Order: sequence, then structure tokens, then C-alpha cells
Amino acid sequence: MSGFATKSIHAKFLKKDAHNALHMPIYDSVAFAADTAEDLAASFCGRKPAHTYSRISNPTVEHFEQKIKNFSGAQGAVAAASGMAALSALFLTIAGQGDNIVTTRHIFGNTYSLFSATLKQWGLETIYTDLTDLRQTANVINEKTRAIFLETITNPQLEVADITGLAEIARRKKILLIADTTLTPPYLFDAPNFGVHLEVLSSTKYISGGATSLGGLILDYGAYDYRNNPHLAEQAQKFGPYALLQVLKTRVCRDLGNILSPHNAYLQSLGLETLVLRAGLSCANTLALARFLQTRPQVRKVNYPGLADSPSFALAQKQFPNGAGALLTFELDSREKCFQFLNRLQLIRRATNLNDNKTLIIHPASTIFSEYTAEQKATMGVPETLIRLAVGIEDLADLQEDLQQALEAA
Ligand SMILES: *Cc1c(COP(=O)(O)O)cnc(C)c1O
Repeated sequence: MSGFATKSIHAKFLKKDAHNALHMPIYDSVAFAADTAEDLAASFCGRKPAHTYSRISNPTVEHFEQKIKNFSGAQGAVAAASGMAALSALFLTIAGQGDNIVTTRHIFGNTYSLFSATLKQWGLETIYTDLTDLRQTANVINEKTRAIFLETITNPQLEVADITGLAEIARRKKILLIADTTLTPPYLFDAPNFGVHLEVLSSTKYISGGATSLGGLILDYGAYDYRNNPHLAEQAQKFGPYALLQVLKTRVCRDLGNILSPHNAYLQSLGLETLVLRAGLSCANTLALARFLQTRPQVRKVNYPGLADSPSFALAQKQFPNGAGALLTFELDSREKCFQFLNRLQLIRRATNLNDNKTLIIHPASTIFSEYTAEQKATMGVPETLIRLAVGIEDLADLQEDLQQALEAA
């Protein structure tokens, strides 16, 4: 089985279902009984794998992880309650007090807050650099750096870094290369082929399919030698390339309780089955709308890595051959013009999500980034004139018509 569409639909059950159900049922049970005290003892100490308590593992969640593992080609996957749950669990596992992570200020606002406030409180430092500048990135890494962290397409700046170049730096420095692939999940981006060790993503977005549920994933491609990470070196002696997955599953996620619920695992498992279809449609819609917006006199600038005149075009073609995602941004003359335009839209909804089936639109500076000062917003690449369009799978002509009528009045 090798095609993405096939792999997204067919995954073997780890245990035969009593009724030969075609969908893994929702095991909405907190605890699972053992036949004997000996069996229960064996499963608690890991000698006999069995589900005991749903904060530790659950059959529906495990099946979703299995499906994602097959789909992506990762050696293992951990599902968490949200993208932020996956990101926080990952950084709490690979780094500690006095360590640092090298990243850019051009990242998702809540991830920036995770680094600059929540993790900082526990002594984890963040070194902000320009990840599109390989020399600068290599220069800021020091002996306390545990990872380079990037977003494959940054949200909302839509910047694309040379991932092969970053992978070469990570390899030389023996540190992890971690990519947030929310905008380009497996199928749109082949992470291991570009030297990414760990993929972390919000499955709330593309994978859930129609914004049904929150979820997050950590995928490990098995290419990092965890003896190089002081927090995992001991586990690496025993579990080799599985050290991180082992620690996440048996300790960190258990202790944090940030697990995906069985119901959401079911929804996301269904969502995954149509990912290839939806991604194809939404990426095609996005490119067409980007080209359309470029022809409008009211639009100052359109940003989409799939546009031939985008500074990221060459890298996007190489790294995301199946489509450069379904997010574009554009600028109008002022914040007032942006608000007027947003208020005139009839079909496109004003909301803060992406990769919904519906097309959604937002003014990032006054919403997602509202907690930051004007100066911070400038360094984060979020001007007051910017609008973010998260394109769905509606008919292109209807989306175009709605944008056109709202722009004409702007
Ligand atoms: C939405 C998003 C997240 C956070 O995911 P949640 O599921 O909302 O917690 C992280 N990174 C990126 C790039 C996102 O777009």
C-alpha cells in the first residue's frame, strides 16, 4: 500500500474487532479491566501491552495514531488534545532549564507566547533568528541549543525557509530539526525527505476535516540519535530511535494529561480519509484566488508561496509539490479599509481558523496578535493592513464573486 489516498483510508486494526466494524468504534471508557491480577501487573510495568486507563492509552486514539503513522511513514505518532498540547509536550520533553530553542519571531502567535512567556518561566530560552538566513541561523546555535524549530509555511507571514539547508545545520550541530507542518501536513510535505526529525502539527486544521475537533500530533521519523540530547540520552540506551516516543507516551503525556479524547480521535480519523481530496481542492482554490486578487486595483499586495512572483516560489515548488497550502494574505490601504471589506463579505466567514471546509477570513493584527504592541507586531510581520484568507473547498466562482463585491465597495 503506497498511495496517500489509499493509506489515509485503510489501516489495520491492532486487534480484531468483535463485530468486524469497518470504523474503529469510539471506546469512550475511562478504564479497561484485566482478567487476572497478574495481567494487570504485567500491563502496568509494560511487560504485556494492554489499555488500562484512557489518560495513558485508549484503543480509538491508538488506532488514529496508527493510521497517521501509516499515512506519514513515521516510525510512530503521538496524538494530543490540540496543536498547542503537542507543541508544549514536545518542548517540555526535549529541553529543560538553561537550554534554548532556535526559531524565528515569524511563527504562530500562541507558539510565540508558549516560548516567550510560558516556557520561559521554567528557564527554557528562545533564540530568535531569521531562519531564511542559514548563516545567521548556524551562528546563533550554542552548546545549550536542543533544536531548530520552524513552521514549513509561517502563519501569517507565509515565509518559507530552506528546510534542507536547516537540516544540514541541525545534522552538523547534532540537534533536532522540528517542523510545525500544520499548513502542509503529510501528503503536502514529505518531512523525512527534507531532513526533518520531528513533525508536530495541529490536526485541528487540515486533518480534522471541516473543523470538527481539536487535536495535535507529534511524528518521529526515527532519524535522530537521542544520545545527543541530555534529557533523552538515558532512554536512548534502551529504546534507541524510539526514546522520544517512549518518554512522551509513558511519562510526559501521562503526567500532563494532554491527551486526545476518543471522540476527537474518531472524528479526526474520519477527517484524514478525505484529506487528499480536500487538500487538492483548497490548494487549487487558493492559487486561483491569489491570482485573482493580484488583478484587483484595491489590493496592494498578495502573498502566497504558490505565486510565481513570490520570493518563496522556488522553495515552495521544491518542498510542497502537491500544493503550497490553503492560506494566503493580502494588504489593503488601511486598517479601516480592511474592516469595511471584511464586513461586506456575504459568503466568506469572519473567523480564526484555517483548513476548514468553509473559507474563513481574519484581520490578524486586531485579533490573533492583539496582545502585542505595534512595535512587536511589526517585528512579527503583522501589519495593520494585512488580511488573512484561509481558503476552503467551496466553488471557486462563488468565492471570487464574494471577494469582488466586497472589494468594489472598499
Ligand atoms: C492552529 C495552529 C497551532 C495550534 O493548534 P491548536 O490545535 O489550535 O492548538 C499551531 N501551529 C500552527 C501553525 C497553527 O496554525
